[in-house]
Amino acid sequence: MVRSNLHTHTIYCDGENTPEEMVLAALSKGFRSLGFSEHAPIVLPEECGMITTDLTQYVKDVKEVKEKYKGRIDIFLGIENDAFCTQLKDGFDYTIGSVHVMSENGSVYCLDDKAEITQACIDEAFGGDAMALAKRYYREVMRNVEENRPDIVGHFDVITKFQDSTYIFDTESKQYRNIALEALDYAAEFGGIFEVNTGAISRGYRKTPYPGSFILQRLKELGAPITISADAHSTDAIDCFFPETVELLIAHGFTHIAELTPHGFTETALR
Ligand SMILES: [Zn+2]
Ligand SMILES: [Zn+2]
Repeated sequence: MVRSNLHTHTIYCDGENTPEEMVLAALSKGFRSLGFSEHAPIVLPEECGMITTDLTQYVKDVKEVKEKYKGRIDIFLGIENDAFCTQLKDGFDYTIGSVHVMSENGSVYCLDDKAEITQACIDEAFGGDAMALAKRYYREVMRNVEENRPDIVGHFDVITKFQDSTYIFDTESKQYRNIALEALDYAAEFGGIFEVNTGAISRGYRKTPYPGSFILQRLKELGAPITISADAHSTDAIDCFFPETVELLIAHGFTHIAELTPHGFTETALR
């Protein structure tokens, strides 16, 4: 049983609820732990990331709920660093490292915002070549993991977020799969935990979590550690699609996921 989530957003960024509301939702679900992972401030697009001046209050709020609910649930203070932001690490219990934005020729594109933005990025910055964007995106993922060594590698193939409704990449093609798998093989060498993220399901973009099945297969072959996370932006999403994701992972041969405890990361049986 998965009774933890380490990818949680709040009102400090694009989430709907306060840290305390998220804790109460986690308690109502019988969670053992909950980790907060607000977006670290990103200087580029205004709508991405926490406002720098809110950072202190975010840390204070999470520490307060950690203390208040001690003995009932383990609360962890994390941060989701983007590849292009100042990397925050000191004072945090863990980090998630993700690539959300692409900055090309003076324009900034948020790749997990809307299908139209990803398409505009392909048309304007990559001459209409979707695979060129895929190559560039995965190169940034590799660089981010190598340089910044996040504890958790966030939504590894987030560029496929809109695939269920809008065709952008031929994710079945050998070319795309080779690009993604080459990046995965490389990134897996640095020891991070890969998250299986259900956030696009709760927000209506996808019917299955990411990464895609062929990436899960390779993660299993590599023996890379994984975790299940909700990328929750509201209380109702805190364990979205977790039972189905457990079944999906078992079908791919996984038996355990990484779980954060007060003593560090440990392995928890999926069943
Ligand atoms: Zn993210
Ligand atoms: Zn997130």
